[in-house]
Amino acid sequence: MTALDQLLAVQEHDTRSDQLRHRRANLAERVQLAGVERARSAAEGELVAVDERRNALVRDQKRLEDDIASTEERITAADRALYSGTVVAPRELQALQDEISSLKRRVTKLEDDELEVMEELEPVEADHARLSAAVLEADAEAERLRTAVTANEAEIDVELDRAAAARAEAAAGVAADLLADYERLRRRAQGVAVARLVAGVCGGCHLRLPAVELDRIKKQPVDALVHCDECGRLLVR
Ligand SMILES: [Zn+2]
Repeated sequence: MTALDQLLAVQEHDTRSDQLRHRRANLAERVQLAGVERARSAAEGELVAVDERRNALVRDQKRLEDDIASTEERITAADRALYSGTVVAPRELQALQDEISSLKRRVTKLEDDELEVMEELEPVEADHARLSAAVLEADAEAERLRTAVTANEAEIDVELDRAAAARAEAAAGVAADLLADYERLRRRAQGVAVARLVAGVCGGCHLRLPAVELDRIKKQPVDALVHCDECGRLLVR
């Protein structure tokens, strides 16, 4: 195995690590999680508004019910006075009867108002239930995705460790200055510093080398460092 073959092995492990890191950074579940979190916060925002509306209507309903109860108490009191026998003057009896009629009309009006509030409340309650369920559902889905992200990351980390160990082993057989050249090239050439030359084509940029250049390369020893004219990558023959 020549030094270049060793370097090609280093390259393969580095490429594998690059792919793993790319996969780790672009996990489908992480992208989905961001979507679920956005949907949750939208539902949450709507829920806050619906909650306010709902609380206002519930307060209105309570206020009307209290009003109905106290008005009914006044009717009962007036009724009691009317039939107690203590009030005998016809004018006072008439006044009591008028008060009772007026209070009963008031109860009818309050009950109509309450019915209106209840009708208004119905769709608000439905929205509230729908949005609360959406928030809970989003929470559960986010939890599931977070677990999946963590599990995937852990799995990829194991593979990254394995690739790093294999890389270190392969790099041990490569001279330090060649390895330094390789690192420099890798930064310049999108992570791929070494490429195979197959049938006159560079495996890095996939361009055919000029015949004259191929001739020149052929005359050099197999372990000589030759670079692709086009992309500058080290060529392994
Ligand atoms: Zn090339």
